[in-house]
Parts: sequence; structure tokens; C-alpha cells
Amino acid sequence: MGKPTGFLEYTRREAPVRSPEARLQDFGEFHGRLSDQERQEQGGRCMNCGVPFCQSGMELEGAVYGCPLHNLIPEWNDMTWQGNGGHALSRLLKTNSFPEFTGRVCPALCETACVCGLHGRPVTVRENELTIIENAFAQGLMQPRPPAVRSEKTVAVVGSGPAGLAAAELLNRRGHTVTVLERDDRLGGLLMYGIPNMKLDKEVILRRIDLLTREGVRFRVGVEVDGEMARTLLEQYDAVLLCCGATQPRPFPGAGEVPGVSYALPYLKGATQALLGRHVDAALSAAGKDVVVVGAGDTSSDCVATAIRQGAKSVTQLIRKPKSMVEPRENLWGNPIPFHDYAEEEAIARFGCSPRRYETVVDHLETNEAGKLVGVVTAATRWVNHGGKPKMEVAEGERMLLPADLLLIASGFSGCESSVLEAFGLKKTKSGCAATEGQGYATAHEKVFVAGDMRRGPSLVVWAIAEGRAAARAVDAYLLGYSNL
Ligand SMILES: Cc1cc2nc3c(=O)[nH]c(=O)nc-3n(C[C@H](O)[C@H](O)[C@H](O)COP(=O)(O)OP(=O)(O)OC[C@H]3O[C@@H](n4cnc5c(N)ncnc54)[C@H](O)[C@@H]3O)c2cc1C
Ligand code: SF4
Repeated sequence: MGKPTGFLEYTRREAPVRSPEARLQDFGEFHGRLSDQERQEQGGRCMNCGVPFCQSGMELEGAVYGCPLHNLIPEWNDMTWQGNGGHALSRLLKTNSFPEFTGRVCPALCETACVCGLHGRPVTVRENELTIIENAFAQGLMQPRPPAVRSEKTVAVVGSGPAGLAAAELLNRRGHTVTVLERDDRLGGLLMYGIPNMKLDKEVILRRIDLLTREGVRFRVGVEVDGEMARTLLEQYDAVLLCCGATQPRPFPGAGEVPGVSYALPYLKGATQALLGRHVDAALSAAGKDVVVVGAGDTSSDCVATAIRQGAKSVTQLIRKPKSMVEPRENLWGNPIPFHDYAEEEAIARFGCSPRRYETVVDHLETNEAGKLVGVVTAATRWVNHGGKPKMEVAEGERMLLPADLLLIASGFSGCESSVLEAFGLKKTKSGCAATEGQGYATAHEKVFVAGDMRRGPSLVVWAIAEGRAAARAVDAYLLGYSNL
């Protein structure tokens, strides 16, 4: 609960952030840390509200309020206030496998339900969480915890994103022998090759993989699980858990075919690979180019911020919806949550204006004689009321030509890949996710389970961790007849 009168005595203070001008010089993380005393006071703002909505993770009218992991937030806020980092850590790790990831990139659904946010500003829950785990690593408290006894059961986890890693951590702790198979050259899924380094330093992922390895989880990279491999896994393992993500892009005409037009993920992956020392095709770099980004979500912001860091000549972001439909968000109490886009802030610092053009879509592409992209012709959109729901129409009339050497498509994902599902004889839902039995993690194949974005659809790291943990319980119960996870 923190200090009973803390919320009256201390105002919310967030960790310092490097200025846009400074952080555009590199790909380093841009959040600093508060002093120990300041952090203690922030923990003390937790107000003993009695009903901690912050840990509820409830869905109301399509929006989620409260932590999907049901983190024991008031308890570790109190420990932060008491200055008892060790106890705070043990309560934090009860529910969250990787607070160092959520502490950096979570949109803090907990804070949208904090009772302090009813009349004032919520407790800095996400930053408190990050401080607890980073202090624990710094003080050597994060030591491997291998299981005391091994079961004779084996589990193959396909995909090493946050869902696969969270499941692997718990199943290994339970004593099962877990092998994580990943087709990419590096582990971490979208933590590694989606979310850019300035939001999540890749060393943070390596640090966790090292810990999991020392706890006994086995990792194999460069292994694509398809038809033949699927049969092998079913023969050799007692259970298979698929955590392959949902990164199939919504189709966009010309993407991946017209030189200069790329989906966002190959671009972001290339940018991280280049940072990590891999040679990356210059066609995938924004250096010296006029860049146009399509989309309004996290992925498009990450493209804008990455392109500026790579030295783009200009960056324009096309958003089909009006500003009023993109930006407003309210907390559980109906108070507005301030909108802040780090990439927009950086674009203003670099180019003097926002990159965002609302109510605008791509009408068609302009190419040169060699078929390479040279421009994007845009059209305005109109939103009409269609049976109570807003419906988009492309307005007749004026079109505008934007010079463009690189067009990045970040207009959402259509679900998971079919090939891995077909390999295990599984079906897709209408929304493009893997079909499961009822609401759970089991599938039509007795031995095969699914979790993460692959089951839920494109979502958040916190949900992927929650899914991985819940699926681990389901796999454990299948293997042993019960689960104490
Ligand atoms: C650009 C971007 C930015 C984002 N930013 C944020 C953010 O700031 N905050 C936030 O909370 N969320 C963010 N997200 C969402 C978040 O990253 C995902 O919800 C989360 O990573 C999903 O985890 P997952 O484990 O289900 O799948 P993924 O992270 O997608 O991992 C799936 C893994 O499976 C592997 N795989 C797939 N098929 C096979 C196969 N056949 N054989 C072997 N391996 C296979 C893939 O290579 C991949 O490594 C972002 C997403 C994107 C794209
Ligand atoms: S994981 Fe996210 S929602 Fe849960 S407590 Fe941490 S910041 Fe809040």
C-alpha cells in the first residue's frame, strides 16, 4: 500500500528522458532513472485504495484496464516504499517472468486503472517495476534457479518471443526438459527483431537468455519448424507448444515487389541486424532517402524513429483516420490519458514539423523506368456514419504527390502463418489466429498447444507473457495430470 498519505505529499515524478536532439544521435535507450529516494517516494504514492483495480486486467467495452499478469502491484509498491528491494523482487517474480521487458515497453495498463488517477495522476507503476528488477540484476539477486528434480517429460517450444520464453521458463522450473526452437538467427522474437533498440536494448534480452540457459532451458536457432520437422517434434517430444507470433502483414499492393516498398518488419529487423554488425542490403536503409510510412500504431512510430536515426532526408507518416479517432484514450475513470508519441517528438526536433498526415491514404505509387519507387500519390479520406459505425471513404478530387524512395507499410497484421499450422494439422480462426479447443491453449491435436500472438492475435508483450505462463500450466497439467504452476 505504500505510505497512507504519500499520494497527498508526493507528486508523480517520471524518470528523466534524454532530449530528442540527444537521443537521435544514437540507438541507445532514452529513459534514465530516478534517485533511490525519489523512487521510494513514488512507491509511497500507492494509496491503500482497498480495491486494487491496477491488478485486475479487466476488459471493458473492448479496452483492457489493469495488469493482464495480475501483478501484485500494491505489495511491491509498499516494499519499494519500505526500501525492501529483495522482498519486492520476490513478489514481482511471482506473476511476471520478465519485468525487465514490461518495465521498458509495456503501455502500463495498470496505470489506466490506478485509483490515484481518479482525481490526480496515477502511481508510476511501470517505472517502479523496472527499478525493482534492474536493481535486482545490479545487486546480483537474479541468479539461476534450476529445478531441484527433473521430470522425465520433454517439451518443444516453437518460437522464442516473450510467449515462448515465458512458457519455457515455467515448464523448465517444473522440471520438464524444454527445448526452444527458433527459425531466426537470434532469440527473442519481436523483442529482438521488432521493437527497436532505443525502446529495448538487445543486451537486456541476451541477459535473460543467458539466465534461462543456466537454468537448463535448451535453445536452437536457425530451425524452421515445417512439415518434416513437425513430424519429428511430435515423435521426439511429449508435448509441443507453438508460440510463432502473428506477423503476417495485411496485404499492400507492391510491398516486397516494387523496389523501395517494404513491409515494416523486414525494415525494422534489418535496422537491428545492422546495429548488431550484420551486413544489410542498402535498399532497406533510410539513409539519405525520402521516407513515407503508412500506419498509426507502435510499428509505424518505430519505423519513423528508426528512419530518422538512419539519416532519412524526410519522413512523412500517412494515417487514414482523423486525429480524434487515433489519439484520445481515457483511463478507467473517464479522465483523458495524455497522448505522447516519441517518434513524432523526434521528427519535430529533426525536421521542425510533425510527420503525421491524418485522413490520408496511398492512392497509387509512382515508379521510374526501372520500376523503382520515386513517389507516393496520396488521397484524402472521409469518415461517414454507417449504421452507427464510422466507415472510411476515399474522397474524390485532388491527389498529392510526395517524393519517396522508401515506402514502409505498417498497416497491421492479418494473423499467423498458415504453414506451421498445416504442418500440425491445425486450423485458423476467422481472425487469422490458431484455432484452439474452446477458450484454452489445447488444440485439435492432443499433444499440441498454442499461445501468444499466435492464439490471441497481434497484441502486447505483457499479454504474450501472460499467455505463455497460462499455456505452461495447461501443458504441465497435460503431462502430469495436474499442475501446481
Ligand atoms: C514493431 C513492433 C513494435 C512493438 N512494440 C511494442 C511495445 O512497445 N510494447 C508492447 O507491449 N508490445 C509491442 N509490440 C507487440 C509485441 O512485440 C508482441 O505482441 C509480442 O512480441 C508477441 O510475442 P509472441 O511470443 O507471441 O510472438 P513473437 O514475438 O512474434 O515471436 C514469435 C517467434 O516465433 C518464431 N517463429 C515463427 N514461425 C516459426 C517456425 N515455423 N519455426 C520456428 N520459429 C518460428 C519467429 O521467428 C519469432 O521469433 C510490438 C510489435 C511490433 C511488430
Ligand atoms: S506488466 Fe504492464 S500492466 Fe502489468 S504492472 Fe507492469 S507495467 Fe503495469
